[in-house]
Amino acid sequence: MADQALLDKVQAMVGREYGRVYAWDRVNAPMIRHWCEIMGIDNPLYTNADFARAQGHADVVAPPGMLQVWCMAGLDLENYAPGSTDENNFEVLKVIEPYGYPAVVAVNSDLYFERPIIAGERLYFTSKVDSVSEEKTTPLGTGFFVTVLMSYFSEQPGGDEPVGRQLFRVFKFKPAQRPEAKAADKPAEAKAIKRPLPGVSDDTRFFWEGCEAGKLLIQRCSDCQTLRHPPAPVCSKCHSFAWDSIEAAGTGELYSFVVMHYPEVPPFDYPNPIGLIELDEGVRLIAGLIDVDPASLQVGQRVQVEFHRFDDQQTLPQFRLVAA
Ligand code: ZN
Repeated sequence: MADQALLDKVQAMVGREYGRVYAWDRVNAPMIRHWCEIMGIDNPLYTNADFARAQGHADVVAPPGMLQVWCMAGLDLENYAPGSTDENNFEVLKVIEPYGYPAVVAVNSDLYFERPIIAGERLYFTSKVDSVSEEKTTPLGTGFFVTVLMSYFSEQPGGDEPVGRQLFRVFKFKPAQRPEAKAADKPAEAKAIKRPLPGVSDDTRFFWEGCEAGKLLIQRCSDCQTLRHPPAPVCSKCHSFAWDSIEAAGTGELYSFVVMHYPEVPPFDYPNPIGLIELDEGVRLIAGLIDVDPASLQVGQRVQVEFHRFDDQQTLPQFRLVAA
């Protein structure tokens, strides 16, 4: 149960407002172009002023997804544009923390748009503590969801205009106790670092179950028979959701490889050769290479699958070089 004094303090902060944070630069075409290039967005409305004017805008339009970009701090933390408030719009987190909630994770963010933002505009935002949830328990731990609303405005001679809003939600929590961390008197070998387990979903479960059974199973579209790996819900060729699987022979060749040297992450051995294997059935998969001299690996070498069990909890396909 959360401390009542904490709950009172926190609820008293809901609705609290914070001053302006200004943009370092006016909305401008170079930043828009860089952003579009990085995001892979190709829209002349954002990059071609003549096109934008023909659509009735004074200059290029900023992609709506850039809303948060304009008023961000500089490269150094808290380096906000002159005139910005020095208040911390997430100060409620600092109030919660001393009550035993040290961890924080960003949860989600919603953006709302009032109108297009055009190159040349100068933006700022103000903030408000939108809500703090009651104490919640999640798989991460127990704590509070804190939501801050940032309202963005464009400075205009006739009165500043709202251009958009952003809700930003974080979870401020005490981390859940991990079961293995509780037992202080476990034998030393039980604390050895294990291989990370794969994320298993309804799409991938058959593959890992196949490994446990010593079979290399490859997903196949039931409609067009196209094989695919890694597993996915939809056939990229015919868009069918129907699939089954085939058992691969486990033979193929080294399509490419990499030898990991650094950083040395336990429990793996280094140098750690990893292969991109092209199976004889035609699909490729990534797997560890065993009993190889990393210096003598060559693309095109023949390989054969073997299954090895690790940490008494997972079986992985690995590949060994075989004679051509
Ligand atoms: Zn298909």
